[in-house]
Amino acid sequence: MRAPLVCIDCVEAAFTLPFDKGLQFERAQFEQCVISDEAAALRHVFFAERQAGKLDRSGEAAPAPVENVGIIGAGTMGSGIAIALLKAGFSVRLYDTALSSLQRGIARINQALDRDVEKHRIDAESRRRIGGRLSSVESLEALAGVELVIEAAFEDLAVKKSIFSKLASALPGVILATNTSYLDIDAISEAAGEKRTNVVGMHFFSPANLMRLLEVVRGKHTSQAALMTALAIGKRANKITVISGNCHGFIGNRLYACYQREAQFLIEEGALPEQVDAALTSFGFAMGPFAVADLAGLDISWANRKAMAATRDPDKRYAVVADQICERGWFGQKTGRGFYLYENGSRRGAVDPEITALIVKASQGLGIKRREISDAEIVQRCVFAIVNEGANVLAENIAERASDIDLAWLYGYGFPRWRGGPMHYASALGLETVLNQVQQFDREHDFWQPSPFLTKLVEEGGDFH
Ligand code: NAD
Repeated sequence: MRAPLVCIDCVEAAFTLPFDKGLQFERAQFEQCVISDEAAALRHVFFAERQAGKLDRSGEAAPAPVENVGIIGAGTMGSGIAIALLKAGFSVRLYDTALSSLQRGIARINQALDRDVEKHRIDAESRRRIGGRLSSVESLEALAGVELVIEAAFEDLAVKKSIFSKLASALPGVILATNTSYLDIDAISEAAGEKRTNVVGMHFFSPANLMRLLEVVRGKHTSQAALMTALAIGKRANKITVISGNCHGFIGNRLYACYQREAQFLIEEGALPEQVDAALTSFGFAMGPFAVADLAGLDISWANRKAMAATRDPDKRYAVVADQICERGWFGQKTGRGFYLYENGSRRGAVDPEITALIVKASQGLGIKRREISDAEIVQRCVFAIVNEGANVLAENIAERASDIDLAWLYGYGFPRWRGGPMHYASALGLETVLNQVQQFDREHDFWQPSPFLTKLVEEGGDFH
């Protein structure tokens, strides 16, 4: 970002120039900054945030008043969500089928609150009050009295259906939210029978107490009141709330799959993880896609790929490297090895010569002649993949507005704020430029069919926003 550096120049000028000249210098710098692309992007984000979580057609329904929340599943997400909601003033009852998980979850929440006291983020009295609003329960029935339940159990449709069917009869008037990452909200809600209108998606990101993005997913049965309630909870918990329609991966993970797909193909074609990550962090991403994959855990996406294997088009290209890494039992940071090597508990990955060799061998096995790949190609392949699919997401009404896609990427995936998000970035570049490049990639690679909506916008001279 240019503006912070310019501020330093202005402070320096205050020491080195006479007063009037200093003011002139500052004014000139300001005028340059205010017309910059960065400033336009930041203004876009400012307004995007104010619009987020608002329904264009909010109708009559008001959110249900919620003070007490039940959370099902005390694992990574359940405990993170509990911390976020406790700190926002809600009372939380935590439930898990495994007593050991429940105890670990409660311990994790207490540790996080203690850390907040140590770091002077809250005082001891607030810590006591917040902790006093947490309790654990040993049956679903003991959740009676809460106004909202958030389910964060295993990512398994049968598990979720069984939970929602029980919840619908045990807690008939309660709004039932699921934190599923990928599963079909409509299939989950159907398990709630007549109470399916109470079911809504609340997809928090990990760690849920720190990440600000919340996708609120409306299924085809979701009532306006359930939707409004989920949005109100997000607002009170200081989340950036984006409304998503129901599709595999919703807005964020659906587009992230396209971004990761290209990153994975690029390493088979000639780049290495460290080059791809460096190109994208130079572009401004907080982390590159391979460092993120290692942090998130390679086993999660591996399980997802296996679950999708039966419906995959066998004629289309499939990236093999991540599977080969997982087959070795290397799942990223948590196992010390993934796309990078994490020695002695280091959280900073080092280049792993065995992975380099594995990648080169994978290219040979696929019959791909490795080539030099420019950083510009890496950025275009990864970012335009988001934009092209983002146009489909808009056309399908999965996203309410293009700026919501931008926010999902800023707050969920580390896209640089000063570029305004992928859709704003594409608009600033010019949609025709983007479409031409997408068409070029379509001639060279699988999965690049230009979005009909992007094509239409270019033909009509329209814009995502
Ligand atoms: P996890 O394995 O850490 O925790 C799941 C917990 O649910 C476990 O403690 C387990 O004992 C409990 N559980 C399983 N079946 C249950 C049941 N029938 N009733 C009550 N508790 C039950 O998993 P997680 O990473 O916290 O993921 C939970 C959900 O959140 C999944 O749907 C996942 O897709 C979603 N999610 C995960 C992430 C992530 O990065 N981990 C991000 C967003 C969403």
